[in-house]
Amino acid sequence: MKKNNPARRDFIKLSAMTLSGLAIAPVALATPKTAELAKPVNMGDTKLNIICVGAHPGDPEFGCGGTMAKYSDAGHKVTFLYLTRGEASDPDKTYAEMAALRTKEAEVACKVLNTKPKFAGQIDGNTVLDKSKNEEMTKLIMEEKPDIVFTQWPLDAHPDHQVTGLLALSAWIKSGRQFNLYFYEVNTGVETLSFTPTDYVDITSVLERKKQAMFAHKTQNPIETYNSYFKPLQEFRGLEAGVKAAEAFIHFKEKGDRANITGL
Ligand SMILES: [Zn+2]
Repeated sequence: MKKNNPARRDFIKLSAMTLSGLAIAPVALATPKTAELAKPVNMGDTKLNIICVGAHPGDPEFGCGGTMAKYSDAGHKVTFLYLTRGEASDPDKTYAEMAALRTKEAEVACKVLNTKPKFAGQIDGNTVLDKSKNEEMTKLIMEEKPDIVFTQWPLDAHPDHQVTGLLALSAWIKSGRQFNLYFYEVNTGVETLSFTPTDYVDITSVLERKKQAMFAHKTQNPIETYNSYFKPLQEFRGLEAGVKAAEAFIHFKEKGDRANITGL
């Protein structure tokens, strides 16, 4: 994309707008780089289309359920796009049984967060990253006409999470970077690796809703997962951001938006 074309200007405007009202003073967005960005960002009646992609039912909820609750509460449309239905998560059950159970759990969680579930049809533990899956994911994402896509950070110990992050990244590139791309973390240190956030969202006001959405995933041992990983993580991210609890993201930016530093 050329530097001065209108599409890019629109994209930059959107960059300034995204997470506004949600994010806690993201450094890159706090200092406008052009006169255009210096104008106050007025969300007005703008309704954003947001997609949150996750490998398994529960990944979007556990990774960024608080942020998604805040978006849907603000009147934006949020879709959870699950790559699989978590078919492989119990060796004592068939894939069909498990898929049915976890689909139900995802639907309950989506209801709590006021988001729409959608399933991409890949198989848990056996997700595929190739040309046709890339094309399929790009189509699935672009038919929702998203303004923002959240996905899993691809440096992760779980192969399905790697595939999920890279499929969404590929869709971002193939679509001509038409939406803002943010990566989220899950079980950092055990699953997500080397995650250095650029943006934080204060989720203090929606903590209980997020917990309720996480606990809808009854087959996933939510009490242990919550107490051992997600509670400490949201508190740690909160400490970094100066609030009680936060979710953290990596905003993947256009090349041109990276080559800037305050004052130069
Ligand atoms: Zn997962």
